[in-house]
Amino acid sequence: MVPVHTAGAFRSPFLAEAPDADGTALVRRDGAPVGRIRFPGQPRFYALQTMDGIPYSKIAVLHGADVLATTVLQTCIRYQSRTRTCRFCAIGQSLAAGRTIARKTPEQLAEVARAAVLLDGVRHMVMTTGTPATSDRGAAILCDSAAAVKAAVDLPIQGQCEPPDDDAWFTRMRDAGIDALGMHLEAVTPEVRARIMPGKAGVPLERYYAAFRAAVPVFGRGQVSTYILAGLGDSRAAILDMAERLIAMGVYPFVVPFVPVTGTPLEDHPPPDATFMRDLLAPIGAMLKAAGMRSSDSKAGCGKCGACSSLASFEA
Ligand code: SF4
Repeated sequence: MVPVHTAGAFRSPFLAEAPDADGTALVRRDGAPVGRIRFPGQPRFYALQTMDGIPYSKIAVLHGADVLATTVLQTCIRYQSRTRTCRFCAIGQSLAAGRTIARKTPEQLAEVARAAVLLDGVRHMVMTTGTPATSDRGAAILCDSAAAVKAAVDLPIQGQCEPPDDDAWFTRMRDAGIDALGMHLEAVTPEVRARIMPGKAGVPLERYYAAFRAAVPVFGRGQVSTYILAGLGDSRAAILDMAERLIAMGVYPFVVPFVPVTGTPLEDHPPPDATFMRDLLAPIGAMLKAAGMRSSDSKAGCGKCGACSSLASFEA
């Protein structure tokens, strides 16, 4: 996943030239050739639309090489006010820009998932959601969506939501067809949580730990994961401590470099540099290896995709 629409992208020392006839493109760093890349093609399912005229690409999109991704509910209780919103989040922007629709129905998701598998060889699916004003925190919507997709096509699914009020939702989600679960911490220390995500920081870390402990026996070790954004203020030591704690619980810590999104309050926040990321990911990769937890063993989701972080390359 290479950001190309952010201000930072224009300051990047890397430049990809237009592809040659063989489909590969030369990449230069400060003018010197460093290698050749191949751009992903336009997925074939993007050309289709539902009977009522909604383009499939407004229902789900291709992430990484073979992952179908959707935000089932494109609205969020935490996005109503700029003082409560997670400051890195752009969930309302793509909706306002007309690139997606507010609520994807189970039928629409099933239709698009089937097409993405048949036409583009998609191998797993990420289903995330904005947080609704219900105590299940979106788990019920994920259950309905996953059940419909699974009835249409055999596709491993990762659901992503905040910890629901009742741990019984984990069994319900698994029984509905969700194979892996993401509950995302984003930041790990109380000060950074309060500054970066003032609304979601109201969910205590203790609730996340309890939810992880309840979810791992349901989904399996390494099938529960959490996204951690490096570069927002958490120290290397704090992230490493959290990763160690999570791995001991059987939770995969998907540590990702923060990428500023244009239009969000953090659009001018710099991403972490490569040295910081290497110093973080190398020891986490060693911890994962020692614990026998590999991204490739996860059935579905961000850890398996790995497009947003090079963590998997440190597990070897
Ligand atoms: S790691 Fe997750 S968020 Fe990133 S491209 Fe892959 S599926 Fe999408």
